[in-house]
Amino acid sequence: MNDPMNRRDCLRVLGLSGLATGLGSSPSLAQSVGESSGFQSSVITSRKVQSDRANATFVDGKVIQPRRELPVLDTTDVLVVGGGPAGVVAALAAKRAGAKVTLVERYGHFGGLWTGGLVLLVIGHIVKGGKQVCQGIGEEMMRRLDQLDGAIINRRPGVNPTVDAEAVKYVMVEMIEEAGVKVFLHCWGVEAVVNDSAVQGVVFESKSGRQAILAQVVIDATGDGDVFASAGAEFEHRSHNVGLVWRIGNLDWVDPPKTANTPKPKHLGLPTPVPGVNWVNMHGPEVDGLDVATLTRMEMSHRQFIWTMIQKTRQTPGYEHVYLVETAPQLGVRITRVLQGLKTVTLDDLKAGTRFADVVGVGGSDSGDHGEWQIPYGALVPTKTDNIIAAGRCISAEIRMADLVRLIPNCFVTGHAAGVAGAVAVQDRCNPRQVDVTKVQKILAQQEAYLG
Ligand SMILES: Cc1cc2nc3c(=O)[nH]c(=O)nc-3n(C[C@H](O)[C@H](O)[C@H](O)COP(=O)(O)OP(=O)(O)OC[C@H]3O[C@@H](n4cnc5c(N)ncnc54)[C@H](O)[C@@H]3O)c2cc1C
Repeated sequence: MNDPMNRRDCLRVLGLSGLATGLGSSPSLAQSVGESSGFQSSVITSRKVQSDRANATFVDGKVIQPRRELPVLDTTDVLVVGGGPAGVVAALAAKRAGAKVTLVERYGHFGGLWTGGLVLLVIGHIVKGGKQVCQGIGEEMMRRLDQLDGAIINRRPGVNPTVDAEAVKYVMVEMIEEAGVKVFLHCWGVEAVVNDSAVQGVVFESKSGRQAILAQVVIDATGDGDVFASAGAEFEHRSHNVGLVWRIGNLDWVDPPKTANTPKPKHLGLPTPVPGVNWVNMHGPEVDGLDVATLTRMEMSHRQFIWTMIQKTRQTPGYEHVYLVETAPQLGVRITRVLQGLKTVTLDDLKAGTRFADVVGVGGSDSGDHGEWQIPYGALVPTKTDNIIAAGRCISAEIRMADLVRLIPNCFVTGHAAGVAGAVAVQDRCNPRQVDVTKVQKILAQQEAYLG
């Protein structure tokens, strides 16, 4: 049965119909009149019982999941799973290269650790001499941030810029919408759909239930290799430091004369585009970032640590007005699964300046003390599993290179390459392992990527 009271009726009852006309469907209504009025709600279906249930059962001490048919939410050429720096760039690149693209993200925004993890400092796009090697779509994103007020600071040659997370989320939505990429947010990729070691799509969980998206090529940009692992591709499972980043405010209210005789508090972080607000990085202990009990423990203990640190800071003379702006909504998991690719990014190759015939990007460094190092396409594709490409921090890289490969600009670069390669594989109806890399390189160059 439908609830007959619509928004206009509701406002009339409340004596607010003039407001309704003036505000149209403005989402700011709740803010203007307070939480107690001006809302609308209807019954969509009453006394409904979920019809497509296929509950797990508990049999002989085991939980058994039954077979069931899943609805297909979408069918596309290139499916990108994960909307972090690598995934967003991959989706844009594939779309601009002519493919039909769907991008799926488990949270409600794009940017991954860059935004949700509050990792605001973009390091790793420069090499010796201050040369910027991360170009293409990642650089375009930076340029767009430059055009916005309060979105980015320290953007000049040879320097690592710092962004505002909300500005990045905004720019990413803008670019994704302009390109016409289809998006599903609040959708968690849980399992690859696989036929004879060829990936055909991915199964997702969301509030709409368990559904599948079918695709010719899947790009795993989850950071954790969730999709390639479930598809049966070989990977290395690593531990790394897991921290929780936070932002601290009112640093512009610190009273210098009062601070003269006290040691500076620890953990004051680095400036952001918001005046008086710093972001504070945290190393955290080395743990398994795939273990849910560990992740829970990290979240809880890091929060206690951060709150205690802020209280200590506020007790320091001159720092009384400092406050905790926010802790990152997303835990800082650095590395977990890393693909075993056809090729692997190695430190020896970086030192030797090895040039690859299948180069699809050039990596930068955190301190600008390395020369250019090339990223071969083979580091993005699994040795056996078909129709899947990795992008971002989970590509094939030896442990000594992981801390360079995972930096944001290097994730842009591998995302860019994966997106273009995915589109080429679709156009040429081939497995990503067999794509014509010269074609990929040509399109990357047209999209202003730097290949050395
Ligand atoms: C604490 C910390 C500090 C760091 N400091 C810096 C720094 O100062 N400078 C720098 O350049 N880099 C830094 N990094 C590294 C950098 O932030 C990451 O390596 C980079 O963001 C990785 O990009 P990505 O796109 O590969 O993965 P992510 O940023 O992890 O994005 C992955 C995306 O996929 C989504 N996702 C994951 N699983 C699923 C799933 N199953 N289904 C659907 N969606 C999924 C996630 O929600 C996320 O949006 C830091 C990292 C950490 C943790």
